[in-house]
Amino acid sequence: MKDSSVVLLDHVSKIYPTAKGEFYAVRDVTIEVQPGEFYSLLGSSGSGKTTTLRLIGGFEIPEYGQVWISGEDVTTLPPYRRNVHTVFQSYALFPHLTVAQNIAYPLVIAKVPKAEIAPQVEEALRMFQITGLGDRRPSQLSGGQQQRVALARALISRPKVLLLDEPLSALDAKIREEVRQELRALQRQTNLTFVYVTHDQEEALALSDRIAVMHNGQVEQIGSPKTIYNRPASLFVAQFIGKANFFTGEVVAQQADLLQVNVAGTLVKATAPTHTPVLGETVTLMIRPEQVQIRAAEVEPNPRLTQISGKTTAVTYVGQLLQIQIETAVGSLMATQLSGSDPAGAVTLSWTADHCIVISPSE
Ligand code: ADP
Ligand code: MG
Repeated sequence: MKDSSVVLLDHVSKIYPTAKGEFYAVRDVTIEVQPGEFYSLLGSSGSGKTTTLRLIGGFEIPEYGQVWISGEDVTTLPPYRRNVHTVFQSYALFPHLTVAQNIAYPLVIAKVPKAEIAPQVEEALRMFQITGLGDRRPSQLSGGQQQRVALARALISRPKVLLLDEPLSALDAKIREEVRQELRALQRQTNLTFVYVTHDQEEALALSDRIAVMHNGQVEQIGSPKTIYNRPASLFVAQFIGKANFFTGEVVAQQADLLQVNVAGTLVKATAPTHTPVLGETVTLMIRPEQVQIRAAEVEPNPRLTQISGKTTAVTYVGQLLQIQIETAVGSLMATQLSGSDPAGAVTLSWTADHCIVISPSE
């Protein structure tokens, strides 16, 4: 046993043969999931999320590396010998069984006595707010209800790990949001370990304790939603998660954690949480639009504050927020603020060095 992880992928690679040679669907991935964690694999289509999940579930065997579940090396064990349960995007309910029979199925297979099954199914129906639907067939349910049944079935056998592959992606926005909240509450209540695959960054940020951002079969960064959002470790992660302004400049001064970066002749104050740049280095800076303050005039200067004059070129209403585009000496920047006063014409932009961060160069 290596550590306290429920799931440990240790330098795992999955290779598929193609006409052009070997293709790494997953390359040298190492992740460890702690008990009770809501752990997400986030990445665009084709980044290797499903393959990673299938390696955990036992539907694929890796060419390199090991898969551990609760301290046991399960690398070559079939799915039914692992204490995990997978929920697929397509629900995979049995059409000929009723809702109650679908939910009871894992218990029937595990030869749980009949008298014990009924109350557990009742409880599961209640937890997912589908009481009264037990006698229906899956075809008589909406998409949201079918996914609730699939989740209830997954949870009833109390697997050590629940693997979920984009379980909400087939639902429409409103229901998706509802089931998302339920899923999170349920995971908290039951304290089960979830490994959750999604391409939806908002969903991952809202649900997860930790996120592994995947790209081209590799893990780009692992961290809490806050870390991933505020301290992206690479340009890829910074661009993939949320909106951001980027600019490039040369480091011209450095004092403690404070950097001065010459961006097209303007001195921008910045910090570098994930990388230590050297004087003269060309760096990429990132600032999130909500960290850019828009003012009518300059304020009292301070060593960590950058102030740049600009001209508003576009204002868009996005729900509660105003999204404002401003032309400045360092380029066109985006700022967001709560709706209210409508900034127009000449403005001053400012931000503190702590929010303007150097993005590490990609390897
Ligand atoms: P994601 O779930 O992030 O969309 P997948 O894990 O499904 O990505 O796939 C990752 C890459 O591996 C894709 O390029 C996909 O085409 C390829 N791939 C997945 N399964 C197979 C397979 N059985 N044979 C060949 N290539 C595959
Ligand atoms: Mg997938």
